[in-house]
Amino acid sequence: MRWLRARYAVVPAWTAACLLALASLVLGHFDAAAEYKHTVAKDARLAGDRGRTRFIADLSRKVDVHVFALGNPYRVIVDAPDVSFQMPAGLGSEKRGLVTAFRYGLFAPGKSRIVLDVGGPFLIDKAFVLDARDDQPARLVVDLVPTDEKTFLAKLKETPSHEKANESPLPPQSVVRPPNAKPVVVLDPGHGGVDPGAKSAAGVAEKEVVLSFAKVLKTKLEATNRYEIHLTREDDTFLPLRERVAFAQKRGASVFLSIHADYFPAQTDKTKPVIAKGATVYTLSEEASDEEARALAAKENFSDAVAGVALPEDSDEVLANILIDLAQRETKNRSQLFARSIVGELAGRAAVHTKRLRSAGFRVLKAPDIPSVLLELGFLSDPDDEKHLLSDAWRERVAGGVVEAIDGYFAKKIAKNPF
Ligand SMILES: [Zn+2]
Repeated sequence: MRWLRARYAVVPAWTAACLLALASLVLGHFDAAAEYKHTVAKDARLAGDRGRTRFIADLSRKVDVHVFALGNPYRVIVDAPDVSFQMPAGLGSEKRGLVTAFRYGLFAPGKSRIVLDVGGPFLIDKAFVLDARDDQPARLVVDLVPTDEKTFLAKLKETPSHEKANESPLPPQSVVRPPNAKPVVVLDPGHGGVDPGAKSAAGVAEKEVVLSFAKVLKTKLEATNRYEIHLTREDDTFLPLRERVAFAQKRGASVFLSIHADYFPAQTDKTKPVIAKGATVYTLSEEASDEEARALAAKENFSDAVAGVALPEDSDEVLANILIDLAQRETKNRSQLFARSIVGELAGRAAVHTKRLRSAGFRVLKAPDIPSVLLELGFLSDPDDEKHLLSDAWRERVAGGVVEAIDGYFAKKIAKNPF
């Protein structure tokens, strides 16, 4: 057909020939960032059923895409240069056929991404972009068909994604700063871009409230003139967890503070109501301090999966854990000192969910040599917390508390270890 560009081979049916065509399709990556500025994605929808599910996105113009599959969990990733998403609100939560949900957003500067969550093993049977024609806009089309686990995994092995190939299991070394330099504070607003994080019933996204808070905190810390402050992200861009850690290490961070907002799901057991409101402070540990901390770490660690980053192989994770465990001992006490300082300051200024320090295996806290703390500002599921998270006055007050906590941490650290 005329509308198909030659390099998007049509895969007619599930045959041996199709396997080859599919491999070339999945591996193909076409970089044309400059040429495709200002492409707008205006709408998207699902069609078909479990036998064949089609994803369609309307585009203002044709754009080159890179489409590939990821497992554990099952996902389809569509990468394209510089697409601006102007989709109707609430898109992507409806299930249809093999697709359980989809989301979209900036993945990295100049790189846009659509992620489809898939309910079981699948194959990308077709993926192509159509030119605009008559009254039809340009369209991205991805067709998925079901398969068995074995075939899915065999296909995945054949076509490794770039991210996987680039990942190193070893944590990078932190930069050592000159002795008289100001301490570096790295603030890490969680999620971003294609990964919205938690969402309130009214649609307030964690990625937005944590960025607003981090910006207020940065301004307040700068005003003390005592620290050098960096934000891992300054806008609505996604950053993988290990890149957040590497960011802090590259800048020789003295402390790392990851900022989040939680969501507690509707309670089914009304006899034992759980009050989920206020701030909570977490540090890293191999064994979770309690079930709630374990579940939260699993949720926060899922950020990479939400954004379609390939997770490291299990063996890499184990190796990294052993190395981290050895180096972490020195850092652990300092992380706890930092965490206690935050809890102490917040307790007087805002609702705290618990004064107890909690810990679990948060991937974003795994820099072996940087005291790292994760602060959940509150629960987007709680209407009072939601109001606070959107309030300038609350932000000012709580950020003021965190500044005091950072001051207190450095004062204690210096008192204990002056050299
Ligand atoms: Zn989060």
